[in-house]
Amino acid sequence: MAKIVPLFSSSRGNSYYIAGNNEGILVDAGRNCKQLELSLLQNEIDTKTIKAIFVTHEHTDHCSALRVFAKRYDLPIYATKGTLDALISTDKVDVNAKLNVIEDEVTLGDMKIKRVLTSHDASESCGYHIVTADSRRCSLVTDTGFLTASALSALKDSNAVVIESNHDIEMLKNGPYPYILKKRVLSMTGHLSNVDCAKVLPELIESGVTRIMLSHLSHENNTPRLALETSVATLSGAGMKKDEDYTIMTAPVETNGKSIIF
Ligand SMILES: [Zn+2]
Ligand SMILES: [Zn+2]
Repeated sequence: MAKIVPLFSSSRGNSYYIAGNNEGILVDAGRNCKQLELSLLQNEIDTKTIKAIFVTHEHTDHCSALRVFAKRYDLPIYATKGTLDALISTDKVDVNAKLNVIEDEVTLGDMKIKRVLTSHDASESCGYHIVTADSRRCSLVTDTGFLTASALSALKDSNAVVIESNHDIEMLKNGPYPYILKKRVLSMTGHLSNVDCAKVLPELIESGVTRIMLSHLSHENNTPRLALETSVATLSGAGMKKDEDYTIMTAPVETNGKSIIF
């Protein structure tokens, strides 16, 4: 058995706890250390089970708790070379912390963690594909303008996925963001829209994915209902039935105690 616990999700902060039997990792550490600790407490996650923090990229919403949290619990940090350099140069990690470059894949206790390519306006962003002790597989892919071949094959090779469903294109176009920011979000190095996320889901379910968590929803340009409706409509169109062929949920902005067991 394995689980994914969404602690925070949105442009205000992102963090997930992924665990196999007795050991787990954090993917990203947004918000601040206190809020992250509280979130872990609310989910009855013992910090002793956390073996490392894997960072997707250096944007603040993914690493604002990193420096203090990693130091307090003496945790190793893994990220791509580009991300680590960016974290160091912006003082988001301590240079004396246990910093590790993830080239391709690392084995940590009974978990295997592989990086997957994303396309984002950061130094060297990535997502992660994780295999737990009993061969349960999951992928986390957010903050990407489109799904790269590497991300797609990781997502397909999963039982459970956390995938970005950032914005409704019409809401974004008609919304309050300044033109330059709209352009950025819509670009190939921005964020994945509801439609682009939904489009890929039938293929994932055909490959064996049964648990879907839509994540990194924009507060201004999306609603949980719209994200879910877009994905469920596409899946229904492909003849796939919710709660029979798959389960789907949106990652909450702050933990609501729900998790994916897979
Ligand atoms: Zn983000
Ligand atoms: Zn980002």
